[in-house]
Amino acid sequence: MKWELKTKRVYIDATQPDEASLIEAASLLQQGALVAFPTETVYGLGANALDGAACAKIFQVKGRPQDNPLIVHVADQKAAEGLSAVWPEIAERCAQKFWPGPLTLVLPKGPALPDEVTAGLNTVGIRIPSHPVALALLRKAGVPVAAPSANLSGKPSPTSGSHVWQDLQGEIPLLLDAGTCAVGLESTVLDLSGSVPTILRPGGISREQLEDVLGEVRIDRPLEGRAPKAPGMKYRHYAPKGEMILLQGSREKILQRMEDEISKAHRRLKKVGILCTLESAPFLHEQLPDLLFVLGSEERPEEVASNLFEGLRLCDSQEMDIILAEAIEEGGVGMAVMNRLEKAAGHRLIRV
Ligand code: AMP
Ligand code: MG
Repeated sequence: MKWELKTKRVYIDATQPDEASLIEAASLLQQGALVAFPTETVYGLGANALDGAACAKIFQVKGRPQDNPLIVHVADQKAAEGLSAVWPEIAERCAQKFWPGPLTLVLPKGPALPDEVTAGLNTVGIRIPSHPVALALLRKAGVPVAAPSANLSGKPSPTSGSHVWQDLQGEIPLLLDAGTCAVGLESTVLDLSGSVPTILRPGGISREQLEDVLGEVRIDRPLEGRAPKAPGMKYRHYAPKGEMILLQGSREKILQRMEDEISKAHRRLKKVGILCTLESAPFLHEQLPDLLFVLGSEERPEEVASNLFEGLRLCDSQEMDIILAEAIEEGGVGMAVMNRLEKAAGHRLIRV
C-alpha cells in the first residue's frame, strides 16, 4: 500500500494572515519541506530555493520535466539583487515600477542558487509577489522560495486553494488556503539578460505596461523547430482532458460554429462545454451545451484572465468530451489569456 502523507489545509485570511500559521509554514520551508501558498497570480508550490534537495521534491511532486526552471520568490529587492550576478539599470526600473507584482525578471544567476532551481541555466527568474500571505511567508521564512504553480504538470494552474487540494492532497505537508487569486494567470516572464528586454511568457503585466516604462520590448515567438527561451513554454500546458478548440472571428460566426459543433457532438453522444464571453452567452439558444461557463466581459480581459483556469478545470470535473472556447482580443492581459487558451487547445485555433 502506498504510504500517504496527510496534507494539512489551513484556511488563512488573505489580507491579515494569522501569525501561528505563518510560523508553521515558514518552519516547514526552513526544514526543506514543501508548502503550497497563495500568490496574486496563482498558488505556488514552495521550497527553500537555497536547498537543492528541497527543490528536487517540487519536480517529483508535480511530475515537472527536469529542464523546466523554477521562479524564485523573494520578499524585497535586496534579496533579488543578492541572487543575480548583475543588477542592471533596467532591472531597477522594472522593480521600482512593477514589484511587488506579477512580473518575473530573468537575469544572469548568482552563485548561491543550486542547479535544481535554474535547471542548469546560467540565468534565474526572480519576482516579489504582492499577495499579503506570500509576502508575510517570505519574510517569516527568511529564505528565497522557489515556487512554480502548485498543480500537477500539464494541468491548468491552480487559482484557488481547492484546485491545489484536488491536485496535491496527500503529496505535501501543508496548504495555506486563502481562497481565490486576484490575477488568476501566471506572471509575465521578462528576459533582461540580452540587449533588448524580451517577454518569454506573457502574463499578468502586459506588453503595453512594460513598453510604457522600458521602451521597446520584444516577444519571444519561437519559430518552428527552435526551442523557446523559457523552457516551460514548450510543454503542453493547461490542458483539460477533453478535446479543446479555440474559435476566432465575428460573434455571429463563432456562435454559429459552436451550435454546429454542439449538434454534431450530441449526435455522437459527446458532452460539450463552452467557454465564452458575457456578451456571447445569451445568444446560444438553438443548441445548448452541457456546460456553459462565462469567462467574463470582453471589455474586461482581467476578468477573463481570473476565471480562465476555473473554467478549464470545471470542464474536466464535469467530464466534457469537447470544449469550445471563444477567442478574445489580444490587447493588455488579453495576450496572456490567448497564450493560455491556445496552449490549452493544443494550438487548434479555427478562424471562422
Ligand atoms: P511556473 O512557475 O510553473 O509558472 O513556470 C515558470 C516559468 O518561468 C516556466 O515557463 C519557465 O520556463 C520560466 N523560467 C523560469 N526561470 C527561467 C529562466 N532562468 N530562463 C527562462 N525562463 C525561465
Ligand atoms: Mg506552471
